[in-house]
Amino acid sequence: MSSILLPETLGDELEKMINSFWWGSNKASGKGINWLRWEKLTMRKEHGGMGFRHLYGFNLTMLGKQGDENMTVANLVNYSESKWHITKVQQLFNQEDAAAILQIPLQFLNEDDVLIWRFSRNGNYSVRSDYYHLMEVVIENNHLKVEGNWNKMWKLNIPKKVKIFLWRSLRECLPVKERLIRKGVQCDPKCPCCDLNTENEWHCFFGCKAAQEVWIEVGMWDNLHQQIDNAAGYKQLVFHLLDNLQSTNMAQIVMTLWMIHWQTKSKMLEQHATNDV
Ligand SMILES: [Zn+2]
Repeated sequence: MSSILLPETLGDELEKMINSFWWGSNKASGKGINWLRWEKLTMRKEHGGMGFRHLYGFNLTMLGKQGDENMTVANLVNYSESKWHITKVQQLFNQEDAAAILQIPLQFLNEDDVLIWRFSRNGNYSVRSDYYHLMEVVIENNHLKVEGNWNKMWKLNIPKKVKIFLWRSLRECLPVKERLIRKGVQCDPKCPCCDLNTENEWHCFFGCKAAQEVWIEVGMWDNLHQQIDNAAGYKQLVFHLLDNLQSTNMAQIVMTLWMIHWQTKSKMLEQHATNDV
């Protein structure tokens, strides 16, 4: 297979198109909003992203792999001197990327002259490990990492769509009224359940009377209300619970959040139907 290095701007355009597609295209319900930049979605799941592919990064990786035999990363290394082939790297990559690659320390094990690619678990070179390494080191994206026990969240024994709902709520991508208004969508900011407060995650899931009734009904209120009183906000509370509860209990909490989410949504649809009559 042969690869060419696409201009970075073309990669950006493609990413924008895929991003719009992923978030949907229904403007009226806030689905037309690209809630997060593609770059943030390409972060690994453990860092708060969705693990989607960074096109430019992947393109660079495939280029490095080009021709299998004649252009793997191994060919960019001068084994006898344990150094990078500086000119080859400089020819293949732009100035900035080449400089970053040349900074990567090479690590060899001298037993039987075996080359170890230290960025994969078994030491063999693979596009996957090369890509992950590139994303970690060459493409500077540390500032996009979001703290939190994401691994535990993705491993919860709940349906995938519920995990994505929870991820969206933690990445501030749920179409709650407060946020929709900030994004320029004109709508009534009030919570459709109580018609008193502005609708945001905190109110919707913990503050609203309607939500608290659900927590009481499922028998979790007694255990939760103190933590709710002490919490600094929605995200902090959910991550605190994730850190401190067993996965089975956390799964019940997330399923209840999902239930409350649908209760609010159906309330909103009811109101729309009444307004339309
Ligand atoms: Zn309310």
